[in-house]
Amino acid sequence: MEDYYMDEHKETSCPKLTGRIVFPGEPGYNEARLDANFFTSKKRFPDLIVYCQNTRDVQNAIKWARFHDVPIRVRSGGHNHESFSTATGVIVIDVSEMKQLHVDKSKGVATVQPGVTGQELYSKPFRTGPYPRRWDLR
Ligand SMILES: Cc1cc2nc3c(=O)[nH]c(=O)nc-3n(C[C@H](O)[C@H](O)[C@H](O)COP(=O)(O)OP(=O)(O)OC[C@H]3O[C@@H](n4cnc5c(N)ncnc54)[C@H](O)[C@@H]3O)c2cc1C
Repeated sequence: MEDYYMDEHKETSCPKLTGRIVFPGEPGYNEARLDANFFTSKKRFPDLIVYCQNTRDVQNAIKWARFHDVPIRVRSGGHNHESFSTATGVIVIDVSEMKQLHVDKSKGVATVQPGVTGQELYSKPFRTGPYPRRWDLR
């Protein structure tokens, strides 16, 4: 299975997937395919899940999906009631491990990656100083 997706010799112009990638049949796939909402996601089996660590991983996953004509689902917390962040036969681009959170107190600006949870988002700025005037989502 992995060769089909990752073999750069067969697919010379196919972008290489980067990040932490989980395929069906691999350890952790069953946990990775499920959203926090177990009941709506339990019958959904994505082709693969890419846990992105940075922006480049997201870009590569999108390029890969376009090249292979595979539908994309993006997942942050995976708490959506209808489990819109997963489906059967898709690539799940999971951004939950992108957790950089930078607060520039002098400018009153917080720069936040999409894996930061609500608790992480609100606790750090409040703990470290004045509430930011602006949030930059990266
Ligand atoms: C028990 C429970 C309680 C809840 N309580 C509340 C509540 O009190 N208030 C409230 O407002 N909501 C509530 N919700 C709903 C939940 O907050 C929303 O569904 C929210 O969208 C979940 O965020 P998530 O990051 O987990 O999204 P996900 O489930 O990961 O994704 C939701 C949708 O957004 C898309 N998406 C996710 N991340 C990205 C991204 N980075 N870029 C582009 N698209 C993206 C997904 O593809 C999907 O379509 C609750 C849900 C549950 C299960």
